[in-house]
Amino acid sequence: MKKVAIIGAGISGLFIANLFKRSLNYQITIYERSNLIDLDKGYGIQLSVNSVKLLNEIGFDKLQNDKKFNPEKISFYTTKSLNKICELNISDFNSEDCKYTTLKRSTLLNFLKRNLEKEIKTNYNISKIKQQNQLIKLSFENNETFECDYLIISDGVFSKSKNLISNNQILPKYNNTLAIRGVLPNSTKIIDNKNISLFLGPDFHQVVYPVEPNRDLNFIALMKYNLSKEEQKNYSFFSDDIFIQKVLKKIPLKKREYLDNLKELKIFPVFVSDNFYRIQNNNIHLIGDAFFAFPPSFAQGASQSIEGAYELFRSIENSKESNFFKNRVYKIKMVNIRSKFNQFVFHLSNPLTIIFRNIILKVLVKNKKFLEIYLGKIYKN
Ligand SMILES: Cc1cc2nc3c(=O)[nH]c(=O)nc-3n(C[C@H](O)[C@H](O)[C@H](O)COP(=O)(O)OP(=O)(O)OC[C@H]3O[C@@H](n4cnc5c(N)ncnc54)[C@H](O)[C@@H]3O)c2cc1C
Repeated sequence: MKKVAIIGAGISGLFIANLFKRSLNYQITIYERSNLIDLDKGYGIQLSVNSVKLLNEIGFDKLQNDKKFNPEKISFYTTKSLNKICELNISDFNSEDCKYTTLKRSTLLNFLKRNLEKEIKTNYNISKIKQQNQLIKLSFENNETFECDYLIISDGVFSKSKNLISNNQILPKYNNTLAIRGVLPNSTKIIDNKNISLFLGPDFHQVVYPVEPNRDLNFIALMKYNLSKEEQKNYSFFSDDIFIQKVLKKIPLKKREYLDNLKELKIFPVFVSDNFYRIQNNNIHLIGDAFFAFPPSFAQGASQSIEGAYELFRSIENSKESNFFKNRVYKIKMVNIRSKFNQFVFHLSNPLTIIFRNIILKVLVKNKKFLEIYLGKIYKN
């Protein structure tokens, strides 16, 4: 039986743990730094059909229907005037069993960890990774050590494990945007509460969607914002009330009343990857945001984390010369380009280019060929 250590109990680590657990060939242990898995209670996440298909293999289709939502459309609006530009039928990519899904992040994490209570060890912060021939020796800050045959690194965008192995060569960079998250009551008037509403620019976009039928709505906005190096590192800065009010005032809205209804408001800087890092050991692998984190404007982070975890598990199972790294880099590059492009287009600020963008958007959301290339290619696996 091979020993597998997984660092980080986020979406990617927990999903790959579920896959390993189905086989009798592996003994898995998941090491999580925090004492409680951060369930970020009310916040939402979007899952496209590529990840829903893979999650269904471990029983996601059996999750109660009142715990998830299947929006049919993405409606595009201008942020300032709240005028509708056009809508995109996201359900065109659905099949009978795999539907574009929105849900609470906590629901997804609870689902992923439901059979892993024994395997998850909390309060384990990695401090050293030593590679000795085929064995990998891990040391933690609580002075415990552990030996394993495979090491899966899934400790997120600031991956300490990746830093330890690469000697801090590959660090994430600030994306020049702040994320503003919150929860809106379902009764909020301006919004179509049965679909995903996407409000565009300037230098800003916000997305509002239901995460459960007839319940509160998830609010997530990205705002262009310059921060000094010191500010980027100072997390208390982002919970300072003066700073929060300053950021909220910058939201380019005419009708701002609904912002008063925002609950569980949280502001944080968005960090993204700049580079890939290939580990020179066939038994140590990166997945999820530790592999590569892109701007959240294509809502693919979690879906790609799930897809990557699945591909890695398959390549370990098949244990032949694997193309895991090469194939993943290829797919991630496609997603990264689209994520950056979305952010650029959503945040346009020149009135003329905005008019032009809106005209093109109206055409493209109805163009099947374009949608197949832009979205279909990503949603296939
Ligand atoms: C604002 C925003 C909105 C987003 N919206 C979406 C969306 O709608 N759809 C979507 O698909 N994606 C979205 N994403 C991206 C998505 O959240 C991430 O891509 C995804 O959570 C990555 O999962 P992960 O498991 O790789 O990392 P994480 O979820 O970050 O999990 C990492 C885990 O590792 C643990 N850990 C960290 N350091 C250590 C350590 N030293 N030792 C042990 N454990 C450690 C952490 O505590 C955590 O539990 C969004 C991202 C942002 C920033």
